[in-house]
Amino acid sequence: MKSSIKLFNIFGISVKIHLTFFLLPLFFLVMGGIKSMVLVLIVFICVTMHELTHSLVAMSFGIKVKDITLLPIGGVASMNKMPDNPKQEFLISIAGPLFNIVLAAVLIFVFYYAPWMPESILFRPTLGNTWLHTIALVPWINITLAIFNLLPAFPMDGGRVLRSLLATKIDYRKATRIAVNIGHIFAIVFGYLGFAHDNPLLIFIAIFVYMAASAEESHVNIKETLKDFLVKDILNPQYTTLNKETPLSKVFELVFHTHQEDFPVVEGGLLVGFVTRQDIIRSLHATGPNETIENIMRKDLPAVSPEDKLVIVQRIMEEKGTRALPVAKGSLIYGIITLEDIGRVYSLLAHRH
Ligand SMILES: [Zn+2]
Repeated sequence: MKSSIKLFNIFGISVKIHLTFFLLPLFFLVMGGIKSMVLVLIVFICVTMHELTHSLVAMSFGIKVKDITLLPIGGVASMNKMPDNPKQEFLISIAGPLFNIVLAAVLIFVFYYAPWMPESILFRPTLGNTWLHTIALVPWINITLAIFNLLPAFPMDGGRVLRSLLATKIDYRKATRIAVNIGHIFAIVFGYLGFAHDNPLLIFIAIFVYMAASAEESHVNIKETLKDFLVKDILNPQYTTLNKETPLSKVFELVFHTHQEDFPVVEGGLLVGFVTRQDIIRSLHATGPNETIENIMRKDLPAVSPEDKLVIVQRIMEEKGTRALPVAKGSLIYGIITLEDIGRVYSLLAHRH
């Protein structure tokens, strides 16, 4: 996301803030003054810790967490994959809200016995009153965060918790469909309440929840459909290879004649590199048509095996930021696979449902 700014690194995770998040303190400064702005900062810290708790549990299962982005409506931790294992998904999802509940319980306990905190303020804090009221709001903010996140609707944690609980009993795809339907019902209720009470924030959340639920369903459908397919099932036996001396101009010609846009580079029948469409376009601009393949080919892209599952290939493509990969066993070349190939399998199969 280009529209976010990196703040700091913690546990190898970079914490970013989305530009729209700054609307929040601005809004509260206008509405409620400096105490409200401090409160926004506190919410920001609580949301960050909530996301970090998800991330740490995920990391304990070997899942990589790249970054945490803070949005005005909450945080998003981007993980390289979500666990297929329902028990892991349950623990990762429940960890965040659980953190807020534990923090709230500890704070209420401490404030309750603190001589400087009157019981009347602790249990009835109001925004913008005194600094003591502001501090007393912190546990209640955490309880609100926990409740909101535990709503059983995607993209909230509660949606994942529900799906993982269902998935221990029924098929993962069916579990997702039920969780998505419940999410849609919540979205419709939010939307109705938003219109009934003239609350644009609620309408916004309703739209967001509705779309996120649908997105989750199609994401899972793609993943589950691709699960049964291997690279060799869709591998095209017709492909063109290049050698290191091939000039870029020749490659450009090949793209037009063969309709192939990504090429394995071969030496003595063995794979030595790979050139993608992006590399070709970039190099044509940067170095001109006489550059040889040797200088633009990539060696950092891993080859996938004909026996690899398409889901794995798609994940590698996402991680490496490429839309094509060479297919090889050892250095022996078998062909290429592209994101379009995978997409075609999916669109063919999608019509079966
Ligand atoms: Zn969460």
